[in-house]
Amino acid sequence: MEIENAVPITWRFSQRAAQMQSSFIREILKITQRPEIISFAGGLPSPDTFPVEQMKAAFDTVLTNSGKVALQYGPTDGFPPLREWIANSLSTAGCTIAPEQVLMTSGSQQALDLIGKVLIDEGSRVLVETPSYLGALQAFSVYRPQFASVATDDDGLVPGSIEKVAIGARMLYALPNFQNPTGRSLSIPRRRELVETCARHNLPLIEDDPYGALSYKGEPFPKMLNMNPGGVIYMGSFSKVLTPGIRLGYVVAPLPLVRRLELAKQAADLHTAQLTQMVVHEVIKDGFLERHIPTIRALYANQCQAMLDALAACFPAGVSWTKPEGGMFIWVTLPKHIDTMKLLDHSIAERVAFVPGAPFYANEAETNTLRLSFVTVSPERIREGIAILGKLIAALM
Ligand code: PMP
Repeated sequence: MEIENAVPITWRFSQRAAQMQSSFIREILKITQRPEIISFAGGLPSPDTFPVEQMKAAFDTVLTNSGKVALQYGPTDGFPPLREWIANSLSTAGCTIAPEQVLMTSGSQQALDLIGKVLIDEGSRVLVETPSYLGALQAFSVYRPQFASVATDDDGLVPGSIEKVAIGARMLYALPNFQNPTGRSLSIPRRRELVETCARHNLPLIEDDPYGALSYKGEPFPKMLNMNPGGVIYMGSFSKVLTPGIRLGYVVAPLPLVRRLELAKQAADLHTAQLTQMVVHEVIKDGFLERHIPTIRALYANQCQAMLDALAACFPAGVSWTKPEGGMFIWVTLPKHIDTMKLLDHSIAERVAFVPGAPFYANEAETNTLRLSFVTVSPERIREGIAILGKLIAALM
């Protein structure tokens, strides 16, 4: 029973909480979930790729054979056989990754937070690509870094451009494969140059790689982790190759760092759910991903091509876009005077949604850019939506 004179609290938030901002994408997603909207806004994988039957069978197997372990608390660093599987999958002929270097996380998003917690002090310089993954900017921002934006072009991050800002910086956050938001990839020579430059500056290089397996040609790029395992922090995820709903990711780092990350994780949530780790291990242990990932690639390659064709047919001259060879995103650049935040208002009114580019910039935003995702929309709806968007853009030009 409520006490007499019960009064609500007047909140005094921490400075940290007071400056937190909602991700712009999550706000747009609330609008775009309306069924009449053709949404190119989501960063969601296609639910048609979720292995529902395999997950169902694996839950059953795990609960039948090891229910008491699966439902118990587990170790902070993760389920050992899964860590071993990951270490094996990342090892190459010249570079062995040890299971002790793998820390399981609740989605790779948690790895971003933990990395921020152990490497960033207030005012620390953090190097990010221009543009970069919004969720990483949001995760790191809690720890109040100074972001330094690093130049990018069609071949990805420009390694030479970090020289001036690398001295004294705490880390460089890079997305070498089919980047979110641009869909671009870092060329192989630049990978070597970047690894070498970071090593020379004693600068930890974070390689965030949720999309690497989704190369349409089926040939993944070499990982920077394998070029310098002592200097690269690698992040992987099961979100785009299995399902994001299980929230399972991992970070691979040199031992001194992984131990710190583990302490931070212990304080945050003790450990990632044992049940889901065991289920995922059960699903993938006998080579399931080798059969499953090609089906995702084929689906996304087809939808990417449908969007590229629609863009070529419907967007006016003066507009350019990236041509991804994998992943989930295309990045569009309009003439300078068109603000895509304003374009979004018009396009929502016409039932089409996208994400304006500005929130992906840590510093000065290019407001004439936007991100399109093609993976959850059928080719017919892609053509319909891009035609509508093309007309709206033409009207503004
Ligand atoms: N990094 C990048 C580049 C992403 O695009 C995403 C998801 N959109 C994440 C990390 C986080 O993924 P998850 O937490 O589902 O592993």
